[in-house]
Amino acid sequence: MKPSELKDLRIAIVGGGYGGAAAAKALQNIGAENVHVYEQATKLTQIGAGIGLRPASMDLFRQWGIFDTIAAVSTPSDQLNILSADGKTVIAQEPWPGLNDYEVKTHCHLIHRGDFIDALLSTLPEGMVHIDHKLVKIEDKGNEAELTFENGNVVTADVVIGADGIRSTVRKQLFTDAEPVFSGEHAYRAVISMDDSLGLAPDNNPRFYMGDDGTVAYNLPLRTRNELSYDITAKSDDASWAPDVTIDDIVATIEGFEERIVEIAKNLDITKVTSRAVFDIDPVDTWHSDCVALLGDSAHAMLHHQGQGANSAIQDAGGLADAFANEATVAEALAAYQAERKPITDHLQKISRQGWAAHSVESAFPGQDK
Ligand SMILES: Cc1cc2nc3c(=O)[nH]c(=O)nc-3n(C[C@H](O)[C@H](O)[C@H](O)COP(=O)(O)OP(=O)(O)OC[C@H]3O[C@@H](n4cnc5c(N)ncnc54)[C@H](O)[C@@H]3O)c2cc1C
Repeated sequence: MKPSELKDLRIAIVGGGYGGAAAAKALQNIGAENVHVYEQATKLTQIGAGIGLRPASMDLFRQWGIFDTIAAVSTPSDQLNILSADGKTVIAQEPWPGLNDYEVKTHCHLIHRGDFIDALLSTLPEGMVHIDHKLVKIEDKGNEAELTFENGNVVTADVVIGADGIRSTVRKQLFTDAEPVFSGEHAYRAVISMDDSLGLAPDNNPRFYMGDDGTVAYNLPLRTRNELSYDITAKSDDASWAPDVTIDDIVATIEGFEERIVEIAKNLDITKVTSRAVFDIDPVDTWHSDCVALLGDSAHAMLHHQGQGANSAIQDAGGLADAFANEATVAEALAAYQAERKPITDHLQKISRQGWAAHSVESAFPGQDK
């Protein structure tokens, strides 16, 4: 679409997580000025844990002019290390895919979730993000859609992007009412001071300690905060969204693991541990109409085994902006966006369902290039 058409296009993004914020930035970058993000929360935060922003995501940030903002609060990493549970055997040690694919070496950046959303939102113009806007109803009228929020506000837009996460209202009301699928796993996440990390992070690279039964303890150094993101994924039958666990329960999941991993678990403050059952969704057949499209977890929530959920949401944002820049109409842009992104995210959803087991690791990045 021409910049003059994009400038006034009424774009409403539902959800102010990584996907929604990245989509707003990417669309603003191609000249869209009438972009509004509607977020249900009254405060924009993310839980205390780290994630890895792949080189391909960092390259998009470079294109959007926000690389330095993200880099300032993150830790550049060269490679991923996978070790046996006891830490005695190196199973895989591989550079991040895409590291050398760009004009300058582009690392994977490890970042605290809160720092990432703060940094991303800080690059958006004031007034673009509207908190306390929980979408309760969406009506697709063909060439525009009407959004009704719990606070009584009603908004009509030429384009609606449903970036409202794994339990998406937009997906449920317009595309499929299939429920998220429980993986049989819990994720326990905490952030500890590097001073209490017992030397687990000698360099800037994440270390995954992998058991044979699907349990993984992994850590990501967050140098700009002098902290370590300390994470455990373990099997469980309890599918409650935020399971109630004790320190003893957590320690029991990592019996026989590297001594320092166990020691740190014993010293965790349970009130600062985030405990979540892990879900994904089955691939959604069609995630767009002529004026509404899904993006990020709402379109393709995947298990975190390959660390690709947030990265995919960011790539969706880049793909969406490319489609709007290249296609003549909104309907064509949304179709082109899905055609470009869905084969990739279908593949990532599939490989992310492969379990974690030390004996079967062939590569740190199975089935992935940059
Ligand atoms: C344990 C774990 C580890 C992970 N590690 C990684 C990793 O290392 N790398 C990686 O790339 N990914 C990782 N992920 C995945 C990543 O967290 C998600 O893929 C990512 O957060 C998806 O972003 P999103 O913006 O699509 O959805 P969300 O982050 O869920 O954001 C959705 C937003 O929409 C809002 N919302 C929801 N409903 C409404 C409504 N009705 N009205 C208005 N607003 C609404 C929500 O409040 C939220 O702010 C991990 C996930 C887990 C569980």
